[in-house]
Amino acid sequence: MSRQLWSFHGGIHPPQYKELSNQRPIAQSSLAAELVIPLHQHIGQSPEPIVQVGDYVLKGQELAHAQGYVSAPVHASSSGTVVAIEERAIPHPSGLNALCVVLATDGEDRWLEQQLDERHYTAIEPSHLRNLIRSAGIVGLGGAGFPTFIKLNPTGRVIDTLILNGVECEPYITCDDLLMRERSTEILAGIKIMRHALQAGEVLIAIEDNKPEAIAIMQQAIANEPGIEVVSVPTRYPQGGEKQLIKVLTGKECPSSGLPFQIGVVLNNVATAYAIHRAVNHGQPLVSRIVTITGDGIKEPRNLEVPIGTPIQHLIDQCGGTSGEIERIIIGGPMMGFAMHSSAIPLIKTSNCILATRQPEQPAAPEMPCIRCGACAEVCPVELLPQQLYWHARAKEFDKTQEYDLFDCIECGCCSYVCPSNIPLVHYYRFAKTEIWSQEREKEKADQARKRHEFRLSRIEREQAEKEARLALKRAAVQEKSETPDKGEAEKQALIQAALARAQAKKESQQEPPKNTAELTPAQQRIIDEADARRQRLDAAADTPRKEAE
Ligand code: SF4
Ligand code: SF4
Repeated sequence: MSRQLWSFHGGIHPPQYKELSNQRPIAQSSLAAELVIPLHQHIGQSPEPIVQVGDYVLKGQELAHAQGYVSAPVHASSSGTVVAIEERAIPHPSGLNALCVVLATDGEDRWLEQQLDERHYTAIEPSHLRNLIRSAGIVGLGGAGFPTFIKLNPTGRVIDTLILNGVECEPYITCDDLLMRERSTEILAGIKIMRHALQAGEVLIAIEDNKPEAIAIMQQAIANEPGIEVVSVPTRYPQGGEKQLIKVLTGKECPSSGLPFQIGVVLNNVATAYAIHRAVNHGQPLVSRIVTITGDGIKEPRNLEVPIGTPIQHLIDQCGGTSGEIERIIIGGPMMGFAMHSSAIPLIKTSNCILATRQPEQPAAPEMPCIRCGACAEVCPVELLPQQLYWHARAKEFDKTQEYDLFDCIECGCCSYVCPSNIPLVHYYRFAKTEIWSQEREKEKADQARKRHEFRLSRIEREQAEKEARLALKRAAVQEKSETPDKGEAEKQALIQAALARAQAKKESQQEPPKNTAELTPAQQRIIDEADARRQRLDAAADTPRKEAE
């Protein structure tokens, strides 16, 4: 009995163009002379570089360490010397530069000695498995780039269903298709590790019915695996969206701005499962990925296994170069990708496709005013009101765009695809999101500056108060000392006063007239005079040696 499937609102059926690149096996990319490895390759905080210019590094060696919880480390994709750590252009819709480690490869591609946990994955505790996956720098390879270890941490919730996304619904892209056809055993090994980490119930591997080979091969791989099922889903874009696929397979609605584990579901890409197998069973961090190089502007479209940081031009050259006049080079697919201004931009962990399109024979139809036809709302898989979002984004009424759930928009491009007025609606939504983020960042910066200023003022006030308190104490001590002299000082003063009193008494005694000197007889007076004369002679004799000595 086939499994019951549900449906999601809207969606479209654009031409697939998958046959351009799915006819050849995956090939190993040659090594570029220079790899430009951006530090920011995932959702969350950028890791901090731990190497310096001039360092020699081995393949798999950590270049930048994760910062905070939502972050992932970045590793060297080959062996060589760090020649720069500087801002370079990275694949991002903003077109902004970001910090990159630039590696001059030595051509030896020498791996760092692997630190492998020899135990079978079933003997490793789920928390330790998550740590291994985190240290390997694994993030979602389906395009979003959310650090995988977080998705594997259900924080106490029971996970009924683990979904493996092999849908690959966007036109042109075939890297997951080829991976499933060529490396099904390795994908299954990664799925089993995820299932153990989550202690999940059933496992569903979802593949669109336009990939019959992949469906057959994956079914063969799981033939003896109880609780794991391959589910073929009808081809419809954007079936591979996280919330859309959960709805189709389980009938459950993921809450707006909520996470799937809140409804007992975890969803990961098949390429992420493959990366987990390499990390846990071979001790290899995420340093390469499969990427589709395709489009009518590429001479020999195909899939390559590419070291992270390889310049896009290096990949185009390996596919025979471009043919005809190129209109644009897109990273990602035609619906959700964005155009690059330079082919020197490097490939990162989330880059699943490089699409080069030729200049069309007919110029694209110009953008016209909205005619309020409502076609955009009919196809929106998130059931938003794209037309209202467009009006408010265009008028820069960003608070209104948020009232219309701008951040629930998955930028699938269905609305732009059907718009008869050729309005590039997704561009307006991206513009509004970028503006809101940058305003929030500015506000955050201003808040931090204000907090720093307030902290500085309070520190100065505190120091001033402490200084005044110290001075007041000092003054009080001096005053107390002057008012209550200590015992030693009092004794000294008493001695001085006594000595002064004695000297005064002596002085006074010397000024008193000699007693019994009145009414002397002449004989008595003569005796006294003789005594005075003797005393004067004696005093004069005593003074003579002292003067000589002086
Ligand atoms: S599809 Fe285009 S023209 Fe029609 S309502 Fe939406 S934005 Fe307006
Ligand atoms: S791009 Fe956004 S608004 Fe447009 S259809 Fe997709 S989810 Fe809806």
